Amino acid sequence: MTKTYGELNPGERVLLGPGPSNVHPRVLKAMATPLVGHLDPDFLEIMNDTMELLREVFQTKNTLTIPMSGTGSAGMETALVNLLEPGDKAVVCINGLFGQRMADIAERCGAQVITVEGEWGRIIEPESVEDALKGSGAKLVAIVHAETSTGVKQPIEEISRIVKNYDALLLVDAVTSLGGVEVKVDEWGIDACYSGTQKCLSCPPGLSPVTFSDRVMEVLRTRKTKVQSWYLDLTMIQNYWGKERFYHHTAPISMIYALRESLRIIHEEGLKNRFKRHITNSNALVAGIEAMGLEMFAQEGHRLPSLNAVKVPEGVDDVKVRKYLLERFNIEIGGGLGDLKGKIWRIGLMGHSSTKNNVFLVLSALESALR
Ligand code: PLP
Repeated sequence: MTKTYGELNPGERVLLGPGPSNVHPRVLKAMATPLVGHLDPDFLEIMNDTMELLREVFQTKNTLTIPMSGTGSAGMETALVNLLEPGDKAVVCINGLFGQRMADIAERCGAQVITVEGEWGRIIEPESVEDALKGSGAKLVAIVHAETSTGVKQPIEEISRIVKNYDALLLVDAVTSLGGVEVKVDEWGIDACYSGTQKCLSCPPGLSPVTFSDRVMEVLRTRKTKVQSWYLDLTMIQNYWGKERFYHHTAPISMIYALRESLRIIHEEGLKNRFKRHITNSNALVAGIEAMGLEMFAQEGHRLPSLNAVKVPEGVDDVKVRKYLLERFNIEIGGGLGDLKGKIWRIGLMGHSSTKNNVFLVLSALESALR
């Protein structure tokens, strides 16, 4: 007996978790566009548009602003393997899961990692970054702008000034902020920044937009050792995205179609309107959550509009509630990670998923689950 396989038919979910978010129908349609070769003149134009539109969302003039093949972690790894050489010192700020991941990768690069530990749910204070930098000779400071594991939005500007005073490079994780929450790469003095397509850009997961300053380009030119990863070596990849258009690896054509379309949607909406929409919907959600007698988790004044962390009330079974939401309402929300397992819910309002309707839907569903 040969086994038969049915057509793909997953449930139609309202994606209000930590990512992926719902994908705009225009992006899904763009993905079905017939392929051209990855060196086709038409594709080269599509690459140019994509780089231009990416500079707009990153608010930068950096030439090297491209999507890396791979998810957000590929962007994280790209930044660290290219900027760090064995023996370099790196200050890594940790107040959530993704800071921990950066420290792990930096260590794998052979760097001496100096960690700045902060309480999960609170921001990293600029003074603690300065304390870590003092006399360290660190080459790099790495920090997460939007900590998806806690819902904290980290202020970057003051830390950037400190990092510059110590002549170090600033690396920022903007996976859960880019395209939904303001990220000003040039104005904030960020040297390296990466994101992911599946959050506020509302594309499927699969690309990691990155941008690097001229200072980083100089660091790349003067490296003493080869970048440990062949696949993520920017010195080679920039020759594909630059004027030379040298083959490095086959670009994921359909994903680049998708990203270009999602960036075109952002361009049409306008960054200011988009940020405002994310703030308005998050404020409405928080008002509803608090009206239900529930409490937000992240430090007041530093909450992310794209990821809203809510404390699970005493005596409530986190998993049961999430299962109820999924089975009854087709809504996905996230649970807590690490020490926060069972203690918070993470409600994403990202990109195409950040709508007034979704706010009402998730509030009513939660209310029904807790009744
Ligand atoms: N950084 C942050 C802040 C994230 O939220 C994530 C994913 O959720 C990542 C990095 C890693 O991205 P990915 O899971 O796409 O590899």
